[in-house]
Amino acid sequence: MSDTFDVIVIGGGPAGYHAAIRAAQLGLKTAVVDAFVGKDGKAALGGTCLNVGCIPSKALLDSSKQFYNIAHNLPVHGITVENAKVDLGTFIGRKDKIVKQFTGGVAQLFKANKIVSYFGKGKLLKGNNVEITGNDGATQTISATNVVLATGSVPIELPFAKFDNKYIIDNAGALDITEVPRRMGVIGAGVIGLELGSVWRRLGAEVTVIEALPDFLGAADADIAKIAFKEFGKLGLDIKLGAKLSKAQVKGNEVHLTYNDKDGDHDLVVDKLLVAVGRRAYADGLLADDVGVKLDERGRIVVDEHCHTGVDGVWAVGDAVRGPMLAHKGFEEGMAVAEWIAGKSGHVNYDSIPWVIYTEPEIAWAGKTEKELKDQGIPYRAGSFPFAAIGRAVAMNEAIGQVKMLAHAETDRILGVHMVGPGVSELIAECVVAMEFKGSSEDLARIIHAHPTLSEAVHEAALAVDKRAIHKGN
Ligand code: NAD
Repeated sequence: MSDTFDVIVIGGGPAGYHAAIRAAQLGLKTAVVDAFVGKDGKAALGGTCLNVGCIPSKALLDSSKQFYNIAHNLPVHGITVENAKVDLGTFIGRKDKIVKQFTGGVAQLFKANKIVSYFGKGKLLKGNNVEITGNDGATQTISATNVVLATGSVPIELPFAKFDNKYIIDNAGALDITEVPRRMGVIGAGVIGLELGSVWRRLGAEVTVIEALPDFLGAADADIAKIAFKEFGKLGLDIKLGAKLSKAQVKGNEVHLTYNDKDGDHDLVVDKLLVAVGRRAYADGLLADDVGVKLDERGRIVVDEHCHTGVDGVWAVGDAVRGPMLAHKGFEEGMAVAEWIAGKSGHVNYDSIPWVIYTEPEIAWAGKTEKELKDQGIPYRAGSFPFAAIGRAVAMNEAIGQVKMLAHAETDRILGVHMVGPGVSELIAECVVAMEFKGSSEDLARIIHAHPTLSEAVHEAALAVDKRAIHKGN
C-alpha cells in the first residue's frame, strides 16, 4: 500500500468523515487518521458525535422520554401502567448498540469508498507530511498534496471541578451512569446540560442546574427561551440563573458544591456533577512548530472563508475552527473543502444553519433573533402561532410552545424562525429551505401544508406575519 495520498484527513468525526467520503467520491486518493477508542477498547470512527455526542444522547433522550410518558402522558390517553421500571443495563446497552451500528457504518463507508483508515494520533509536519503515533507509541509518516484538519473539540474543564469521571463527569460520563443518581448537579444550562439533565431527571433524579448567565438560553430568541424555561420547570429541572460555581469537592460518595448568586453563597450536595460549560477546539499536539498553521486566542485553527489555513494544501473544518460547534456545520464544511480541493465550487451558508435542542419540548431555530434584528436596526414584522391551536398537537397531547417567524418589513424576506414545541427539530428544515431560497413569509403562507400536521404551525406563523392567521386572533 502506498503512503502518499491526494488527501489526508486528520480526525474521523462528522467534519472529517464527510470530507473524506466526498473527496473519495471525487476520485481523490484519500486517507483518514483517527485516534478515538470506543467503549470496547477498539478504534471507533465517527468522533464525538457518533461515540459520545449527538447519537448516544438522542438514544437516551428517546428511551427516557418513553419512561417519562408512562406516568405523565399515557394517563391522559386513558392508559395506565403500574410499576413501570427502568433496567439501566438495557437502557445504556441499547445506546451502545446504536453507537456501534453507526461507528461501524462509517468504517464500512470508508471501505466502500476505498478510503485508507489509519489508527493513531496524527501530527502535521512541514511539507504536508502526517506523522501517526499509535497506542503503542510506534510512529509512521504518510504524506499528501492536501491535508484536512478535523480534530474537533473537547469539554472545557473547570479548574475547581476537575473531571474524575466517577463523580464529576463530562458529557461522555453522563451517557454511562450505572445507577440513577438521587441528586444530580449540572453546571451550565447550555445544550448538553439541558439535554442530559433532562435524561436523568426523567428517570427520577433531582436535577439542579447552575448557570452563570442571568438570562436563560441567551442564544435563542427571548420568547422561545421564556416558554422553554417554564416547561423545564414543570419537568422538575431546578435551574438557577446568574449562579456561579465556586467550589466542588468530592467527599465520600458525594460532591459538595458551593455556588453564589445575587443572594450570596449557597451549598449543595449531589451524587453526580455534570460539568457542561462549553467545549474548546482541540488541536493539542496537532501541529509541528514549523508548519505555519495559526491558532487564535481561543485555540481554534485559523481559516479563511474557504476553510483554508493559509498554508499551501492545508485546510481545517468543524469544531476545530470558528463558527458554531454543530455536527451539521462540520458536515457541510467537510464536503465543501473536498469540492474546493477537487477544483469545484463548495458552498456553506453560515447564515442559515439550524440549531436544535432535543429537550421536551424541543427547541429549534435558524437565522436572526428578534433582539438581533432590533440591535442591528433591521425593520421586521413578526408572526407567531401556538401549538395549542394545532389540532394534531392537541390530539398528541403535546400542544406546547409556538412557532415565531420574523420577516423583513419591506421585502418580506424571512430573516429568522424560532420554535419551541413538538417535533420542531424536523419543522425547522422547511424554514431553512425557504431561507436558502431567499423566500418570503408570503411564500410559506401560500404553500399548502397537510392537515392535520404540526407543520401547520409554520404555515399559520407565516400567515400571522401579515396578520391573517386563521386559527387565532392577530
Ligand atoms: P454551551 O455553550 O451550549 O453551554 C454552556 C453553558 O455553560 C453556557 O450557558 C454558559 O453560560 C455556562 N457556563 C459557562 N461557565 C460556567 C460556570 N463556571 N458556571 C456556570 N455556568 C457556566 O456548551 P455545552 O452545553 O457544554 O455544549 C458544548 C457544545 O456542544 C456547544 O457548542 C453545543 O452547540 C454543542 N452541542 C450541540 C448539541 C445540539 O446541537 N443539540 C448537543 C450537544 C452539544
